[in-house]
Amino acid sequence: MDLGTLGFCGVNLLVFTFSVRRNIPLHVWRTNLGSRKWCVGLFFCLTVTASMLAQPASPAEEATRKLALDIFKQLIEINTTDSVGNVTTASDAMKQRFLAAGFPESDIEVLGPNDRKKNIVVRLHGSGKHKPVLLIGHLDVVEARREDWTTDPFQFLEKDGYYYGRGTSDMKDGDAIMSATLIRMKKEGYVPNRDIILAMTADEEGGGSNGVSWLVKNRRELIDAEFVLNHDGGGVLADHGKPLLMEVDATEKLYGDFVLTATNSGGHSSLPRPENAIYELADALTQIQHYQFPFELNNITRAYYERQAKMSTGEHAADLQAMLQTPPDKDAVARLSKDPVDNSTMHTTCVATRLTGGHANNALPQMAQANVNCRIEPGHSLEEIRLTLEKVIGDPKVKVQFRENNDELMDHGSDRHGYVPPAPRKEVFDPLEKVVAAMWPGIPVLPTMSTGATDGVYTNAAGMPTYCVSGEQYDRDDIRAHGKDERIGVESFARGVDFYYLFLKGVTTD
Ligand SMILES: [Zn+2]
Repeated sequence: MDLGTLGFCGVNLLVFTFSVRRNIPLHVWRTNLGSRKWCVGLFFCLTVTASMLAQPASPAEEATRKLALDIFKQLIEINTTDSVGNVTTASDAMKQRFLAAGFPESDIEVLGPNDRKKNIVVRLHGSGKHKPVLLIGHLDVVEARREDWTTDPFQFLEKDGYYYGRGTSDMKDGDAIMSATLIRMKKEGYVPNRDIILAMTADEEGGGSNGVSWLVKNRRELIDAEFVLNHDGGGVLADHGKPLLMEVDATEKLYGDFVLTATNSGGHSSLPRPENAIYELADALTQIQHYQFPFELNNITRAYYERQAKMSTGEHAADLQAMLQTPPDKDAVARLSKDPVDNSTMHTTCVATRLTGGHANNALPQMAQANVNCRIEPGHSLEEIRLTLEKVIGDPKVKVQFRENNDELMDHGSDRHGYVPPAPRKEVFDPLEKVVAAMWPGIPVLPTMSTGATDGVYTNAAGMPTYCVSGEQYDRDDIRAHGKDERIGVESFARGVDFYYLFLKGVTTD
């Protein structure tokens, strides 16, 4: 590369930085990038810059990338599905890795409720200056059928710049990265300012033996920490390979299923009566369709919108500013709520997802039932939402029940509620900003609320604030977690390995 190229790139990066800071709304991935005329040059420069940044991997970085890749392949090829897989096999394999790297047996535990669902917990001792940090990752994966996939989901395959296999993006990549990072730290004799505990666990994707929940209930002392870093979320969001922003899921909504049931004595369909289970259920669902839960922001979503407001322009920026006022501007909230992501960020949502009813074409229905899936803002209990649904429906003939994880229907919702998040922690965000500035110059770091759910629900509920942080880059148009031909970019994984070491070191050094 000559100096001219470097100079050209410098200018383009400045422009890029400027456009990120000034022109591009946070939700650029939902709109289109501005500054299109710079794109070709920018693409070239980002490619050059990326290779400049990626190239000088030190021998230690190279070794860690290789180790992470070995672990990655090994984990992908151990089937850890709920149906026929075995999480204990993966935990045992990781135990061997940690023993080989010099961790004493006393710092590694493989434990759980049954033989197939054992978790692994390993500890790297620190100076004890601060309370430990806990890293979590799930070892189980979603089911994958060979006939649905182009390749064997349980064979690790590198092809066209990607690694393929079930769990390559959710989340054996993260398990491998965290394990390799801890092993590198151990080998280097690194003494963090707090213990680093790594727990890799069962049944995040389903099944009845959630490992994080089990550890919190049964062995709290083993995983007790000041805060938690979960590799099952966050990361560098990109548009066709171009990094846009670093997302950190710093809180999440609570998941809840509710079942609406209308019943009737039924009868012959040639003699209809006014009371009809299907119509009653339909009316109830219409009420829910038109109900908007109240607008609310918490520490994390407020921080997210404050940063977004600074990066936006025009009407969108004005709406964000108006929405952030106390009290919020109702019209601005309504306009912003037209976007499904903003709507779900600012409100609890409940939506009908399944429907059954009737038993014969020529009979009045004796029963009609619907599932309503809710994503609940932090701080509200499942029972609170059940009572709200009852009130919104306003028809005592329609029963509203809470559906437990095991499908059992309960007349009373669980008191489980999402944990209201504290403000973004400096110990996490300061080092993160630094590493991001070095590895992805110019992209913003944004604390977000995940509208989905992870194992953070258990650690947050246990009073351990949880942040989803990952240095892997993923394209907004190529999210294949839970789907067929799941994959992660080769370069994304390698840089994710480099990132995690720098980040975790930053978090655990004063
Ligand atoms: Zn996951």
